[in-house]
Amino acid sequence: MHHPHPLPDAVAPIFEEVIRRNPGESEFHQAVREVLESLGPVVAKHPEYADSAIIRRLCEPERQIIFRVPWTDDSGRVQLNRGFRVEFNSALGPFKGGLRFHPSVYLGIVKFLGFEQIFKNSLTGLPIGGGKGGSDFDPKGRSNGEVMRFTQSFMTELYRHIGEYTDVPAGDIGVGSREIGYMFGQYKRITNRYESGVLTGKGLTWGGSQVRTEATGYGTVFFVQEMLAATGGSFAGRRVVVSGSGNVARYAIEKVHELGGTVVACSDSGGYVWDEAGIDLPLLAQIKSGPGGRVADYAAAKGGAVRHISDGSIWDVTCDVALPCATQNELDAEGAAALIRGGCTIVAEGANMPTTPGAIRALREAGVRFAPGKAVNAGGVATSALEMQQNASRDSWSFEHTEERLQEIMRQIHDRCLETADEYGAPGDYVAGANIAGFTRVADAMLALGLV
Ligand code: NDP
Repeated sequence: MHHPHPLPDAVAPIFEEVIRRNPGESEFHQAVREVLESLGPVVAKHPEYADSAIIRRLCEPERQIIFRVPWTDDSGRVQLNRGFRVEFNSALGPFKGGLRFHPSVYLGIVKFLGFEQIFKNSLTGLPIGGGKGGSDFDPKGRSNGEVMRFTQSFMTELYRHIGEYTDVPAGDIGVGSREIGYMFGQYKRITNRYESGVLTGKGLTWGGSQVRTEATGYGTVFFVQEMLAATGGSFAGRRVVVSGSGNVARYAIEKVHELGGTVVACSDSGGYVWDEAGIDLPLLAQIKSGPGGRVADYAAAKGGAVRHISDGSIWDVTCDVALPCATQNELDAEGAAALIRGGCTIVAEGANMPTTPGAIRALREAGVRFAPGKAVNAGGVATSALEMQQNASRDSWSFEHTEERLQEIMRQIHDRCLETADEYGAPGDYVAGANIAGFTRVADAMLALGLV
């Protein structure tokens, strides 16, 4: 990947070491580089971080687990996948982060996600460390029985590494409440413990929290609401484009509509739909929750002026606010150029690292306000931490109370980003603010805990 901006001298050798120790893991390199780019002024101000090799230690996971996941498909054939759990940093609390089931998963993806998770979790201000896991299992086209057998086999190994005080996984791409349910059931059976706090994203009748399902999408929109408010604006009357049509995208769309904006396009890996009247969420939800539901079916069901475009870019749809909510590196320099031409003024990442470095540069040079996923989408993990809190006290809170807590957390994250950016001489820079604020809280905890 081409990087015209050199890294600050103090961190360049650390990045070289990361590349040498983790060959071929390009997404991990990208995530590390993005954080290191922000840390020049921090290292200058705090020599104690360098003396204790805090940044080098942060880039090396505490523990990386890779395991075999054998299972049988519906025709009785043996299938084989690879499982991962990267326990990246536990200075602030138990490892915390989701599990992803997608054929593209390999160690480099899990490490990029785990690394980002450290700073995201730190930014929430809650007591959670960073980790991530998953498998190259492809749930597409698999029956319910196959998903259950795979997921049980996955947990048959994972159970020995996790626990409410150790490591607390949740969902991500391809892992929703059904998969969390099968995993919780298998964990409970193996350990003979009803340990609610070992997984988050549970169902409401068995230890789940209100608002967890909605939290990442809602939180994303709450964050953007703060960005808009910072310059005296709001969502009312704004055109919004949301990529993806999964968990994050759907609840982002719902909240934008509730706040008076209109989402005119959304997508999946087969293309995007463009609906000037505003995405009809009940129809989208109905289609996507059916087996193999595609956004193409949404256009077919709507007919008329609603179009499905399979060979174009969703970023060609003009909008005021763009929310990439599907997957990593889905918004490239070309997409950024299209957004700029269309007059977009805010890009906020609902997904993890959806914007390429080239696209971020182009957006920022054009004066588009850009906010990174580790701040914007932190509402999901924050609500997971609220779920752990309810599990620990054997309590459950109302929807309204939990949503208020989420909104307050997103407001605090937003303000922490801007205040930190100001403090380090980069006013209005959400990337620097998120990276530095996330980093310093973990770094100070690591210093306090000694060389462990
Ligand atoms: P889902 O599996 O519910 O949805 C993912 C969506 O993105 C689907 O529309 C999917 O389309 C699309 N997508 C996935 N991979 C690709 C790809 N390679 N190319 C194009 N489209 C793709 O996942 P989530 O909504 O939970 O996650 C979306 C993003 O948000 C991820 O980056 C995740 O890490 C991040 N995130 C999620 C959190 C959560 O709480 N769930 C918390 C914080 C971040 P298709 O169906 O065609 O594959």
